[in-house]
Amino acid sequence: MPRETGASFRVGVGYDSHRFSAGRALKLGGVSIQSDVGLVGHSDADAVCHALTDAILGAAGLGDIGEMFPDTDEANRDRDSIDMLKAAVKRIRDAGFAVNQVDVAVIAEAPRLGPHRERIRARLAGALGIDSASVSVKGKSNEGMGWIGRKEGIACIAIATLTKTS
Ligand code: MG
Repeated sequence: MPRETGASFRVGVGYDSHRFSAGRALKLGGVSIQSDVGLVGHSDADAVCHALTDAILGAAGLGDIGEMFPDTDEANRDRDSIDMLKAAVKRIRDAGFAVNQVDVAVIAEAPRLGPHRERIRARLAGALGIDSASVSVKGKSNEGMGWIGRKEGIACIAIATLTKTS
């Protein structure tokens, strides 16, 4: 069967990971979180925003965050990742897509996401231009296994669905 090229509904997946380090700020989904360790990265290392940005760009077939914001560019140093997410949303809108809904899983032993979840949902919803009810954020531990279990870093998986508006 020929592939339907005019599909009006798209799905994208994004993954990101960052290493923990003392002396760095911890920001997830655009929300600053009190923690002994933060995340290392060229930008503010907000893995939630990075995975979500890739999911949105991927759903639209418009590349990825590394192409859009190279880590060789000094302009991106310590950059607020909510701004990158907003720029990706603008790019997909300009291409005739609208964000429908997103779902994010954050995998880390600490910090627990529960107390911050509603603030993260609201912040992401604002950047995405959708209602908080259409933004799901889940925290999962890795049951003590592997590099996540050893608290070396954090991983994030995001799914985004888009509709074609034009
Ligand atoms: Mg990243």
